[in-house]
Amino acid sequence: MRTKRQTSLMKPVIFSDFDGTITRVDVTDAILEEFADPAWQDIEAEWVAGRIGSRECLRRQMALVRASAEELVALFSSFLRVEGRNTVIDFPHWPLPCEHGCATCKPEVMQRMSGGHRPVIFIGDGLSDRFAVEQAEVVFARDKLLAYCRDHSVPCQPFSTFADIAQAIELLVDRGPEGERSGHGSRSGKAASRV
Ligand SMILES: [Mg+2]
Ligand SMILES: [Zn+2]
Repeated sequence: MRTKRQTSLMKPVIFSDFDGTITRVDVTDAILEEFADPAWQDIEAEWVAGRIGSRECLRRQMALVRASAEELVALFSSFLRVEGRNTVIDFPHWPLPCEHGCATCKPEVMQRMSGGHRPVIFIGDGLSDRFAVEQAEVVFARDKLLAYCRDHSVPCQPFSTFADIAQAIELLVDRGPEGERSGHGSRSGKAASRV
């Protein structure tokens, strides 16, 4: 059990998703909607159902994109290459597959980079963030991640802007993460055993 004194020494570490959380638009979704064969949605459905990981999902979806470099340039993200009229996806930050089949394994990155800081805070918006929330003690969620957390009884705080989060984190650092998780005994125990 954390004491009041330990709480005052907390140094939170914050991990945030990028597409759709920091940016307003998910670049990958934008490319698919604009340039991919509509079959990309069938692959998306397989991923939503949990039958394939995001790595396989992205690779297969990007294979359906037909666009020139000029057409893509406005939407470009750093991990896409164009070969002729084919779009190939690289996973520069995560060359090896993880147990979830992630494109970038967020929980693994969080575990490696949290450096003993607490609480571990995660901010996200998408289904690809669902493994990251397992590694976090405090979760801020919106859109599909919020729906996922509610469906799976994962404690989280909804947010719409980063101003909401700044305010909540100030309160949290004052009070400690146990306050955020009161009433979620099993989840608290699970989170505590991971840190
Ligand atoms: Mg996102
Ligand atoms: Zn993973």
